[in-house]
Amino acid sequence: MQSVEETTTCPDCGHRIRVDRRYVTWCEKCDWNVDPTPLLDPTPAWRLRLEQRLADSLYRELEQGAIHRPGWDAARIGAGLLSVLILLLPLTAFLTGIALLLFYRPLWFSAILALLALTVAFLFRPRLGRLSDDAVLLYADEAPVLFGVLDEIATAVGTRKAHAVAVTADANVGYGQVGWRFRPIIVLGIPLWAGLRPQERVAILAHEFGHGRHGDHLSSWLVSSAQHVLFGLRMTFTEGHVERHRRAWGVDDGTGATMAARVLNATVGTLVRGLSWVLTRLELRSGQRDEYLADRKSGEIAGSEAAAHALERSLLADSSYDAMVRALRFPTEVEPLEAVRSAVTGVPARELERRLRASRIRETRTDATHPPTSLRTKLIRTRPATSARVVMGIDQSTNIDRELAPASEQVLRDLKAELG
Ligand SMILES: [Zn+2]
Ligand SMILES: [Zn+2]
Repeated sequence: MQSVEETTTCPDCGHRIRVDRRYVTWCEKCDWNVDPTPLLDPTPAWRLRLEQRLADSLYRELEQGAIHRPGWDAARIGAGLLSVLILLLPLTAFLTGIALLLFYRPLWFSAILALLALTVAFLFRPRLGRLSDDAVLLYADEAPVLFGVLDEIATAVGTRKAHAVAVTADANVGYGQVGWRFRPIIVLGIPLWAGLRPQERVAILAHEFGHGRHGDHLSSWLVSSAQHVLFGLRMTFTEGHVERHRRAWGVDDGTGATMAARVLNATVGTLVRGLSWVLTRLELRSGQRDEYLADRKSGEIAGSEAAAHALERSLLADSSYDAMVRALRFPTEVEPLEAVRSAVTGVPARELERRLRASRIRETRTDATHPPTSLRTKLIRTRPATSARVVMGIDQSTNIDRELAPASEQVLRDLKAELG
């Protein structure tokens, strides 16, 4: 343990800053080196500025108390309508294929055209939500304590109870609806879950169930299906690697075919990219509002401090994941989940603060679905709910870990095998 505190001078503003060799050195006065590894982000600067402005305006709107009722706000209606229009493409292709087979003759000719149309319909068909193959499913009879808490939180939020819990090795906790019946599933990523304190667990779960209540799953399903169509079209009508190289090396043969491709890329491609951008923006707006609303629910149910702390812990999720993978790759006497816990609990407040500030810069542009964590914790703390409606004791939390143990072990085994 070092007893004398090491300091240095900020190269930008001359402020004296503390140095902890285990973490990044940064300046709390001018934010120097807050984000030492900026992402290589190809997004143009004007779009980053626009996104930052959108994020700020939404925050201010919510801070002033204008939290709109969840549901179909203007952005969501726009996104839904646009998605329906886009999804007419696979539907039209499907109907065309059928009509060709039924009414058009000679059959050999109509069959070829129908095959084309039906292939397009098949490639662009809307897909149902499904879980990743790596997830280990857990049901109520296998984990009564966990499901007891889940049911209590779902009831407090006022949403459907979880059908199952999916344990994964990812560094996140999530909510999803799967299959034709849109059954609610709670996804528990162990690197994040293991590092949470009991009441933070309540907070995170309340946030996720909050999505079940506010998030309109019909609309997000429509939008993701439409995005899938647009993605396929974008791939088809964007100048590819090969074409670019050929042009660069002057081996472009200038034939009619390449000319036609270029015209299509310039017209259809531009239209598709534009549509995709508009749809993403609309979805971003309504999605971020959902996140703030889910945070508010989380504060009401777990207490505001626990809700804010849980979000701050999520900023450490990547470090927890790395600690887990390290422990799996180079086994010591420290269990992987123990490594996760110490990676989270040992982090000093100053490092947490740095990550919060970095999230302000970073998340606006990278995480389209979530507003920056610093804004979320700030909003939770502006109208604090001091008491909690659901309380998880330490015993309960330990029992839940015991119930999760077989599933987590299996997930860790699978990941270890994958790491080789
Ligand atoms: Zn400074
Ligand atoms: Zn969320």
